[in-house]
Amino acid sequence: MTPEAALNRVVHCLDRAHDKGFKAKAFFRARNVVRATDPAEIEERAAAGTLTKLEGIGDSSARLITEALAGEVPRYLEHLEATTRVPISEEGQRYRDALRGDCHLHSTWSDGGAEIEDMAATAIELGHEYMVLTDHSPRLTIAHGLDRDRLERQIGVIDGLNERFAPFRVLTGMEVDILEDGGLDLDADLLARLDVVVASVHSKLRMERTAMTERMVIAVANPHVDILGHCTGRLIGKRPESTFDADYVFAACAQFGTAVEINCRPERLDPPRPLLDLAVEYGCWFSIDTDAHATGQLEWQPHGCDRAAERDVPLDRVVNTMSADQLIEWTGGR
Ligand SMILES: [Zn+2]
Ligand SMILES: [Zn+2]
Repeated sequence: MTPEAALNRVVHCLDRAHDKGFKAKAFFRARNVVRATDPAEIEERAAAGTLTKLEGIGDSSARLITEALAGEVPRYLEHLEATTRVPISEEGQRYRDALRGDCHLHSTWSDGGAEIEDMAATAIELGHEYMVLTDHSPRLTIAHGLDRDRLERQIGVIDGLNERFAPFRVLTGMEVDILEDGGLDLDADLLARLDVVVASVHSKLRMERTAMTERMVIAVANPHVDILGHCTGRLIGKRPESTFDADYVFAACAQFGTAVEINCRPERLDPPRPLLDLAVEYGCWFSIDTDAHATGQLEWQPHGCDRAAERDVPLDRVVNTMSADQLIEWTGGR
């Protein structure tokens, strides 16, 4: 194991444990330093005990690098591998086993912390056949949303990656902002070119109930929209659910064949149980997605699988149990 691989794995494990503390930041920084430094220099410094003279390498990272160079699995990494595994219930595992891809995730092109190729390599390790790259749309400037030019460039990059990673597939997509009037933050010709479109509310989350209902119904009725992302916008313990008439919204999702996302982020777990029950009642489609912003977070599907199992979501209504071709046919045929 190279020092870079060991550090990558540490970052991955801390991500899957949702650890955003000082240590996680330090290892992330150390990983980037090692990545940017000549491996020969790292070896020399490890031998001379001068790794910590490199800006961004602390004692813990230095120890990890030295152990990796000695051909050992670093002790701290071994500890993390054992203690950060994402748990899953037996019933949830049945859902997880059926999933063939992940339809909502981000890269460094918007506000993610990992390159597209690192996300793809991890998705392959997790047994996925495909992933849909859904970086943010232009209006979300704090998240470096992609404008037309950058999205077109990204589609080109994805073409190249698909040659490299075949038979695994990176599908094109975007997490498009739902504007205040229910319109979408991307031109229709681009929406039509994407394999999968996730539409989410990220602004004016406290909008009045009737207006929010209209806004969401208009968006899910849009033929380009395939998945309604994190429908209530809640952040558990931090931000309340948006208020809307869920009967109208889920009836529209069922009517227009827009999947309701079961967002697996531990701070979201959206929709909440009562709304998930209602969406099941309306016969909606679902998509169990991680909304990952780092490689480790791609391991979060168990959170959504457990929830889906608990609320009896019909497995044959979960769109990411489809193959990539079936999924594209489903999104294109709607
Ligand atoms: Zn979002
Ligand atoms: Zn997202």
